[in-house]
This record gives sequence, structure tokens and C-alpha cells, in this order.
Amino acid sequence: MKSKLLTIFYVVMCFFLIVTCILFIINLIIGKKSEQIEEQNKKEEKYVIEYKANQTIRVKFHKTGEIIAMDVNDYLRGVVPSEMSPKYNIEALKAQALVARTYLYSKMEDSSEGNDADICDDSNHCQAYYPKDKLFEIWRNKGYDEDTINEFWYKVNLAVTSTQNEIITYNGKLIRAYFHASSPIRTEDISQIWGNESVPYLISVENKEAEDYENRTSTVNIKFEEFLNTLKREGKVGDELTLDDVKNVCINEKTITDRVKNIKISNYYVKAEDLRIIFGLKSTNFTIDKTDDEIIFNVLGYGHGVGMSQVGASTYADDGMKYDEIIKHYYTGVQIDKLESTNENEGEDTNEN
Ligand SMILES: [Zn+2]
Repeated sequence: MKSKLLTIFYVVMCFFLIVTCILFIINLIIGKKSEQIEEQNKKEEKYVIEYKANQTIRVKFHKTGEIIAMDVNDYLRGVVPSEMSPKYNIEALKAQALVARTYLYSKMEDSSEGNDADICDDSNHCQAYYPKDKLFEIWRNKGYDEDTINEFWYKVNLAVTSTQNEIITYNGKLIRAYFHASSPIRTEDISQIWGNESVPYLISVENKEAEDYENRTSTVNIKFEEFLNTLKREGKVGDELTLDDVKNVCINEKTITDRVKNIKISNYYVKAEDLRIIFGLKSTNFTIDKTDDEIIFNVLGYGHGVGMSQVGASTYADDGMKYDEIIKHYYTGVQIDKLESTNENEGEDTNEN
């Protein structure tokens, strides 16, 4: 009798133990699930916040590490003339404002500046930004008179405020708004220079540029000896190469728009993009000439050639093209969308100074 009672006791205990375990596991699963939902909500909330117009953004200054919160329009006023000459046509400056705004929001989407800041002022990492007083100082140092400087600032303000909240999208997503200074004749397809990734809106398009642009053509002369030693130091060719090898240098492969992909020296192939950076060539659109002791790069255009050409944008604008047409010319198949304003005073832009 006693052992029967004991058995019943054990069975009941086991039953409770199993039920407790099951409940514990279910709880864990539900907990995990709700954590995931919470995480998802946070992400969605972030997405909404990042796409709100007229917000305050946090700019990190790379030299001092200082982070300053500012109105998005004030930020863009500092970016547009830092990235494009304020002498350019107003429609080109408006196009640059859209590019800068789109770039800002895509940087915020990536959180590439960490949790403390949204974007930085380093043109090598994000996009160039100078505050108003610094811009005025730069323009004064270039010899512009006060009237011209005020005219520059007026154009910059107009470019930012008249395109307020407008961003460039493709299939409902912000585009990667690459731009460059100049690519006479055609822009470059992104797949031809950076990996093989194709981007539908970053394909090669016809480009018209004013021929008096100062960096339309440039030449770089380098002594063969220096050319060889630099390539060796940069690890682009082997130490066994001789001066005779390097004198036989030739262009090996070109892109679909006639830019150089790589050059051949003996059995080494050096990427044109690397040459551009190492030797300060203005673009990879070059031909090579040789003398007895020098290599001469004859370069056309300035920059990587992908996306909007700034000189081209201003040239098309001088011909009567509007900023939205310019954007749609350089970025194939894109749309210009307007962010919903969170500010009742939209358009009044009380921050003007
Ligand atoms: Zn940055």
C-alpha cells in the first residue's frame, strides 16, 4: 500500500516536472519571439525617423571629433558649395542639393557613422561640409568680392530651399547618388570600374560638357625610373622588373566607354583605378605617350565618371534643362520623391541667416 502511494507520488511529481519544463520552453520561445518583434519595431521606428523631413541631424567633424547637431537645411547649405562651385548654373546646384540630400539619408539608413552621429564632414568618407563663415573665408581668399560672395550664398540657399525635402529614389529606395566633376562625351557604367556589380540607374549615358572647363584635359609626365620604383613600392609589380620592362608598358584593357581598365607591364597588370590614385591622374580616361625617359598620361575628364557629371549638369542647365531633368538624365529610371514634412512652417525656413 505504502509503495503504491509512493509510486503515485513519483508519477505526480514527474508529471509536474514535465509540465514545468514544457511551460519553461514555451516561455523561452515566446520571449525570443517578442524580442524579435521589439527589435523589428525598433528598426521600423528608426526607418520612419530617418525619413522624416526637416529634422535635426548630427554632423561629426573628423579633425576634432566634435559632433554638432544642426538643421538639415543648414547642413545642406554647407555641403552644396563644398562639393560644387557656386559659380555653376542654379539648376546644377539644385541637382547637387538633391544628390547631397539623398546621400545624407542613405548614410543615415546605413548607420555608417555609428550611434553618435549621422554623417561626417570628411569628403573621403561622407561628403564635404563647411560652415557658412568658413565658406565665406574660402571665397574671400579666392579673391571674390562681397557682392559675388553674397550672390553665391543666395544661389546656395535657393538650391537647398527650393528643392526642400526632395530625394532621388529607384523602386522606392534611395539611390546611391554617385557624382564626379567631369566625363566629356559619356559617363561610366559602375560595373566597369568597381567590381562587376550592375546598378540599373548607374549606367553609361551621353554627356555634354562645356569645352572651356579647366580640367577637361590634363597631362601627367613621370620619369620611367620613378614610375617603376613607385609601382614596386606600392606592390603593384615585382622587384625583378627592369627599366626596359617598364618602357614596354601598354594599355591592356578598356571599359565600354573607352576608359582604361588596366595596363600591362611585362607579365603584370596594374589597374587604371590604382594608377589614378597613386599618380594623381584626374581620371582613368587616358592615353599613354612615351619619350626616351618618360611616360606621359594624356587624361580626359576629372573623377571616376559614375553618375552625375557636375560640369555636364551645369552645361545642360545653361542649355535650359531643369534640375529634375538633369537628375533623370544622369540616373536612369529614377524618381524624385518628396519627404513628408514634419514641420508646419515648411517652406518658410526660418533658419536662414
Ligand atoms: Zn563619414
